[in-house]
Amino acid sequence: MDSLRINKIVADNGLPKFRKGQLTKAFFSEAVDSFNEITTFSKDLREKLTEQENVLTVTLHKLYSSTAKNAHKALLKLEDGKLIETVLLNPKPGLWTTCISSQIGCALACDFCATGTMGWIRNLTSEEITDQVLFWRFFMKQELKDIQLNNVVYMGMGEPLHNKKEVFKSLDELMNPDTFNMGARHLSVSTVGLLPAMKELTDKYPQVNLAISFHAPNDEIRLGMMPINKPYPIDKLLEGIAYHLDKTNRKIFIEYILLDGKNDSEANAFELGRKLKTLGKKHLIHINLIVYNKTDKDLEATSRDQAQLFKRKIEEQGLSITIRKNLGRDIHGACGQLALKEPNSVKATRSSIEEILK
Ligand code: SAH
Repeated sequence: MDSLRINKIVADNGLPKFRKGQLTKAFFSEAVDSFNEITTFSKDLREKLTEQENVLTVTLHKLYSSTAKNAHKALLKLEDGKLIETVLLNPKPGLWTTCISSQIGCALACDFCATGTMGWIRNLTSEEITDQVLFWRFFMKQELKDIQLNNVVYMGMGEPLHNKKEVFKSLDELMNPDTFNMGARHLSVSTVGLLPAMKELTDKYPQVNLAISFHAPNDEIRLGMMPINKPYPIDKLLEGIAYHLDKTNRKIFIEYILLDGKNDSEANAFELGRKLKTLGKKHLIHINLIVYNKTDKDLEATSRDQAQLFKRKIEEQGLSITIRKNLGRDIHGACGQLALKEPNSVKATRSSIEEILK
């Protein structure tokens, strides 16, 4: 459900204009999850709409909750029967973040990422993207009696900027004062750095948080981890980041996944710091160290001590850095673990990077 569909329901059923406000209020302010519960509507109208359409484009297929109850993962079924994953996290009391998917599968094939092994199946529509947020608000109302969802991060399955059109539409909807009414600063887009689209994101949505999957201090290591480094090597990526910093004067988040013996040495930390410092504006750069979550790949996470050492070496260069808290590991809801164990009905296509750039 989104603002466009509410308009369509009102128009298609020849309803008076005030019905639009009632529908919007029910779904978005009150998290009512069915037409049947909209008490301002007559019984006939409720029945007619229930018959006619679903409130959400997604339905719950399976729900997994971590033992600590601070992470929930839902497997959602789309109208064409395909499945996506979406996660709700509660990193601290009163703070709820949802991590949403933008594609089924992903074409980028990063070496360490479980979603990448699926290949790309299809893009999600804007409504399928925002329905994940609405789904969690309905869930929160039922399970937690609280519908305050604070942040949305595009860090689930898929590369958001490889589905730019629908992702931009979904950002508009999440910021729409009539519906989700979220502030841009509560939204974050994470990208491998598809540069032209990243520049567009900066231009159109300067207040939306930008996170870059950087992951390596130089091209040689990055290329071994991320095929996208071929068309967009680190120098180009740094240009895109510099553009963002200049244009927005806002903090940028550099994500760096620590892999044992691959990118986690003191020398790697020093080289990463040195490169990032060439951007100037040290105070606007924040590095998020990500502890690798095991997938089927033959890769190992860096030890705790080594991660601390890496962090110190970055701090010594005057940059701000934190180690990201990992929630939801026991439900495979953590970053990069969002691959579906249940096969989707269509076989994934593995597009080449050249195709992605078209
Ligand atoms: N395609 C986008 C968004 C999805 S991934 C991007 O790459 O930014 C969100 C974050 O999780 C990225 O930084 C990604 O690199 C990281 N990630 C991927 N696989 C991971 C794994 N196995 N363990 C930990 N983090 C992982």
